[in-house]
Amino acid sequence: MDTEDTLFDAAAEQAVELANRFADEHPEADMWDIADGLLAGAIHYWLYSRQPCEDPMCEDCAPVSTVELRQMELRKLIQQFSEDSDYYRAPTDSKANWS
Ligand SMILES: [Zn+2]
Repeated sequence: MDTEDTLFDAAAEQAVELANRFADEHPEADMWDIADGLLAGAIHYWLYSRQPCEDPMCEDCAPVSTVELRQMELRKLIQQFSEDSDYYRAPTDSKANWS
């Protein structure tokens, strides 16, 4: 496993641990509020990290060089990470939603 994968996995694990710790510390809290807050923070950090550099011809930044492109990239990642999750489908899903 290279450093990039290790950092990716560590960041994802830490985010889940933070949510679990927060839920433990606030047993009265709505789990959805904690998850939405965590998602808002994650998206904020992701957008911060994807600001294009000052070179308009930069090939590295080309896929994230406009707000529309960044949103497309973000949606792609959301779809991918959702499908990779053990919780992508729930046993309690309405059957009508299974495709
Ligand atoms: Zn760049």
